[in-house]
Amino acid sequence: MSHKPRKRFGQNFLHDTTIIDAIIAALHCQAGEHFVEIGPGLGALTAPLLQQSIRLHAIEIDRDLADALQRRFHDQPRFTLHRADILRFDLRECVEGGMPLRLVGNLPYNISTPLLFHVLEYAPLIRDMHFMLQKEVVARLCAAPGGHDYGRLSIMMQYRCTTAHLFDVPPHCFHPAPQVTSSVVRLVPHLAPPVDVGDTQTFARLVSQVFAQRRKTLRNTLKNWLDAAHIEELGIDPQSRPETLSLAQFAALSRSLAASSRGATG
Ligand code: SAM
Repeated sequence: MSHKPRKRFGQNFLHDTTIIDAIIAALHCQAGEHFVEIGPGLGALTAPLLQQSIRLHAIEIDRDLADALQRRFHDQPRFTLHRADILRFDLRECVEGGMPLRLVGNLPYNISTPLLFHVLEYAPLIRDMHFMLQKEVVARLCAAPGGHDYGRLSIMMQYRCTTAHLFDVPPHCFHPAPQVTSSVVRLVPHLAPPVDVGDTQTFARLVSQVFAQRRKTLRNTLKNWLDAAHIEELGIDPQSRPETLSLAQFAALSRSLAASSRGATG
């Protein structure tokens, strides 16, 4: 099919068979499992996925690509195409017989952060996710405290999932070649939260607030929420910067805020 790649849909089509094989190998597919592919595009991953005897739902926003995919795979009874925007898509539509979903995709990089937050709303339905993303985004997803990659995305994702960088993919493996190196990441939703944050909205607000001013000390950023003595009582230095705090320390701050009336109203 001749298709002019659309920048607005983040279209960089994978054509390197070694990388395609590496992604399929990383999935360790078992017959009968239920997969959801986000952004199947020209079908570079769709076709080898369908060779794995799995059930596959695919979600594609581009109507021309969706038409071509439907023509190509219409005789595959284990394939269902949804013509939809993943950011508005209800993943419950893909659940059949209570089977957990395994998500996979070479994602449109222009919407990667909202997409990750959207799919995580369905975390209890998801067994795992394997995504191709910009290398910098994967570095942020997997970052440990202390580095410049560590921030809101690291904490919010690591609260919901274990994250693992699998391998890098150079630009020439795609058409058109993106400006950046890519990486494949594995995300596995936790069965139970790894820390007690008290209240998830307070936690999300706290993390956004401190990383909006990541150069400031906690004492300064949180001055309207928690005083320095309170922060110290939690075993946290009020002079520290947010990028040095572990998930457990953010959870402790969040519990303390949720418990205080200022946290509830501020
Ligand atoms: N999977 C193909 C591959 O590896 O060659 C295509 C990957 S391309 C990076 C991203 C794909 O996501 C494109 O097919 C694009 O049309 C689709 N896409 C972009 N935005 C989308 C959205 N909001 N919802 C669903 N699909 C989207």
